[in-house]
Amino acid sequence: MSQRTAVVTGASSGIGAASARALAADGWRVIVGARRVDRLEALAGEIGATAIELDVTDQSSVDAFCARLDACDLLVNNAGGAFGSASIADADLDQWQAMYDVNVLGTLRMTKALLPALIASGDGQVITIGSIAAREPYRGGGGYNAAKHAVAALTRVLRIEMLGQPVRVCEIDPGMVETEFSLVRFDGDADKAAQVYQGLTPMAAEDIAEAVRWVAARPKHVNIDQMTILATAQISAQVAHREP
Ligand code: NAP
Repeated sequence: MSQRTAVVTGASSGIGAASARALAADGWRVIVGARRVDRLEALAGEIGATAIELDVTDQSSVDAFCARLDACDLLVNNAGGAFGSASIADADLDQWQAMYDVNVLGTLRMTKALLPALIASGDGQVITIGSIAAREPYRGGGGYNAAKHAVAALTRVLRIEMLGQPVRVCEIDPGMVETEFSLVRFDGDADKAAQVYQGLTPMAAEDIAEAVRWVAARPKHVNIDQMTILATAQISAQVAHREP
């Protein structure tokens, strides 16, 4: 059987990099995309993947990325993140716009561009990394909640519209995963980022990558619609048990 092709967006760090590693180990031909090409190339060299620069907020970048592909059987929409944690009263419109651009329109751009290849594959699959923020609103989560709720809506509509087509659609919604996510959210403030995980054991990127690998390996007649995965110490978006 010829090797199947997986595209992983946002693979220069965290969940995307771990997912690319897990898929490569499972025998997928992996294409990784992100803006930081030096990191991508290091990962690609390590796992035998192909690195291509990608900014999912830029249509011309998405077009150039997709033009380099000769096939796509699996798209992992992982690129995304949160910017800030201001209340609605203090919301920064630019941060909201940026979160909508990367999480929602980025997922839309990639999905739309690769849907013809996914259908042509005869057994295509889209796995989108949402968040617990897509399921539960929380204080200070407004812009990220709005963006990830929109990602969930997009993913659900895609699942409905792919009924009868050979494309499976899954959303994986993680809780706390220790990656660069909080560092990005708090604009490089390492102390603030560390506080997010203080007193508990968060998940690692590999924990979510294992779910991506497993979902991707289900047989063609099985669609995992949605998975919520939390650290044992976290029960909801804002409630966690922390040791002193
Ligand atoms: P991360 O370590 O900050 O990784 C984010 C990745 O997204 C990086 O590889 C980054 O690469 C890429 N990215 C950001 N903007 C991009 C753009 N415009 N175009 C292409 N790639 C872009 O964080 P992570 O935790 O692995 O996050 C991965 C996904 O999981 C995100 O969708 C996030 O919202 C979601 N998530 C994370 C958590 C958590 O607690 N960590 C929980 C739930 C959901 P470049 O900067 O090189 O482009």
